Amino acid sequence: QRLVVLGGGESGVGTAILGKKQGYDVFVSDFGKIKAHYKEVLIINKIEWEEETHTEELVLNADVVMKSPGIPDKSPIVKKLSEKGIPVISEIEFAAPFTKAKTIGITGSNGKTTTTSLTYHLLKRGGLNVGLGGNIGKSFAWQIAEDKFDCYVLELSSFQLDGIVNYRPDIAIITNISPDHLDRYEYDYNKYIAAKFRITMNQTENDYLIYDGDDEAITNWLHNNKTNAQLIPFSLEKIFEKGAFIKNDTMEININEEEFTMETANIALEGKHNLKNAMAATSVAKLMNIRKAVIRESLSNFQGVEHRLEKVLKIQNVQYINDSKATNVNATFFALDSMTVPTIWIAGGVDKGNDYAELMPLVREKVKGIVCLGVDNKKIIDAFGGVVDIMVEVNNMQEAVKTASHMAEKGDAVLLSPACASFDLFENYEDRGRQFKQAVQNL
Ligand code: ADP
Repeated sequence: QRLVVLGGGESGVGTAILGKKQGYDVFVSDFGKIKAHYKEVLIINKIEWEEETHTEELVLNADVVMKSPGIPDKSPIVKKLSEKGIPVISEIEFAAPFTKAKTIGITGSNGKTTTTSLTYHLLKRGGLNVGLGGNIGKSFAWQIAEDKFDCYVLELSSFQLDGIVNYRPDIAIITNISPDHLDRYEYDYNKYIAAKFRITMNQTENDYLIYDGDDEAITNWLHNNKTNAQLIPFSLEKIFEKGAFIKNDTMEININEEEFTMETANIALEGKHNLKNAMAATSVAKLMNIRKAVIRESLSNFQGVEHRLEKVLKIQNVQYINDSKATNVNATFFALDSMTVPTIWIAGGVDKGNDYAELMPLVREKVKGIVCLGVDNKKIIDAFGGVVDIMVEVNNMQEAVKTASHMAEKGDAVLLSPACASFDLFENYEDRGRQFKQAVQNL
């Protein structure tokens, strides 16, 4: 069987290694350049590869193709493969049959990384031999080739899910759904929603689907479609017989016989959205029978993930917060919502068809000034000009942080939460967040 892997990054090389180990004739083809350390791995494992091209004779003779999630379906090589009827699947689909380990698959528009990391933290502290994979860290396929773990917590993007056929997570989480990446779904929101729900399509009555019971896109879908999984909703507003919710500032998880409770004040992560993430992760921990004391201790010491509402420094009593990962309006909504002091908001970047209307009440209530950090700030200026006291356009991160520091007074916060992609001025959101932290250090 010939396995062709499109894309020589983390998931591609991981898949190639697993394929080789399983006896496939493996070929890796990357239209860009393959990083030197991945090339070394391919060479050591005697796997053939090419870069800066897809040679049709070498690709179109595949029995099965693993496509890295970054490659769109409409790219010419993928189109040719589908015309020839060659199955094109994702890393998760390829790798899952080669392990007996349980998997917990986590998707959603926002909160995937936070929920995945927190779930992993809870299970690991609970003594399980657990791996972390998908869009985070080391590739799932690679870890399976090394056969290290009894269960895996996987962050799954909609692109990963587009390429599944039989993959079935024992526990699935959909954190929430709001419009994002619509360019990859023909600008059809329903197609994007359907992609997210692929996570549950192969689940059986023994599996679980944990989801945001306050989210309209999710509850509508569940109303109109069927899943075999047992449903476990979580909510900030409602109370469930079976599910997770908040009552009197206490988080309650009612899943198996004994309920779990914990005062929200003792959960280290801040913000309403993080309460949702905590409810989702804790539901998994309960399903996996982690001890209550361990769950409590772990929730009280998990500090969150870099670039997500990350507290950087307090300078002259002004708190600087890095939320560079907020690349859409919904993420920024929760960042602003969690602010408890007057805020200078650094926003802007590459607009993804943003509608700022939902931020308006929060901006009126919490934001003193806006620093616009994008090549094109027109939409932000149109939306909030006149709403805040002061609005300034800047050209780089140093300038943005300096300007914000001048605008802030003692007791205020400076929040980088762009609501936009970063590719106009930065390599990626990590680069943007790092430059922010460096600029804060420089103050
Ligand atoms: P993802 O991996 O889905 O992009 P992250 O955990 O990296 O999610 O968080 C992305 C952004 O969304 C961050 O700015 C974070 O503060 C915000 N966020 C985290 N969890 C949620 C949630 N449940 N709902 C909305 N926004 C969230």
